[in-house]
This record gives sequence, C-alpha cells and structure tokens, in this order.
Amino acid sequence: MSTIFSKIINREIPADIVYETDNVLAFRDINPQAPVHILIIPKIEIPKVTDIKIPEQSILMGEMIDAANIIAKQENIDETGFRLVFNCGGDAGQDVYHLHLHLLGGRILTWPPG
Ligand code: AMP
Repeated sequence: MSTIFSKIINREIPADIVYETDNVLAFRDINPQAPVHILIIPKIEIPKVTDIKIPEQSILMGEMIDAANIIAKQENIDETGFRLVFNCGGDAGQDVYHLHLHLLGGRILTWPPG
C-alpha cells in the first residue's frame, strides 16, 4: 500500500530533497531528531526491512548505503560521525511503511537509543 513517501517520490507533496538517483531518493526529515536528519528511501515500494529480497535487491540496498555516505560528506559529518537506522515494525516505532534509512548526525548521539 502506498504511503506519504510515494507522494514525495511522485512530487505530489513537497520535501527538502538533498539527493536523488534513478533508484533512491533522500530528503530532510520533517521532524528532525538531530541537526542532520535525512531519510534515504528506495523509489520502489518496500514496506519494511523484513520485506527486502536478497539477492534481488542487494544492489539497491548498496545504493542506499552509498547515498548515505555521499550525503554525510555533503553535510560535513562524514569525519565527525553519524548514525544509520532502520526502524522495523511496531516495537521499533516504525510509522511509515515505506522502507527508509535514517541518517542522523551533527551532534553527539548517545547509546543505547531509546
Ligand atoms: P519511522 O518512525 O522510522 O517510520 O520514521 C518515519 C519518519 O518520517 C519520521 O522521522 C517522520 O518525522 C518522517 N516523516 C513523516 N512524514 C514526513 C514528510 N512528509 N516529510 C519528511 N519526513 C516525514
């Protein structure tokens, strides 16, 4: 089922897009939890981590990591450090069921997460 992120991909609603390829889109989180908080999504609809098909989607997953590294450099947090998070399912607090990789940085990130 389509989510609000499909509307962002289709430019039906606005987003602050920071990176795009044929297969991946990245935009700033509307409710940032850190000075840098960007969501990296595949353009195809994959609801959550447990729906990822390997090996068919391995290259796509690699593209998401590649996007994270490129954006971290763009945002000048590649040297200071950053965190990548996939929330999967209810206990992890996943709200939007279109796969998204959170890229967080620009401040000290404590551990363990909440
Ligand atoms: P999750 O809880 O892992 O499903 O994360 C969903 C994220 O999407 C949250 O951090 C929201 O703030 C973010 N979000 C929801 N709607 C939008 C939107 N229209 N534009 C940007 N980020 C959004």
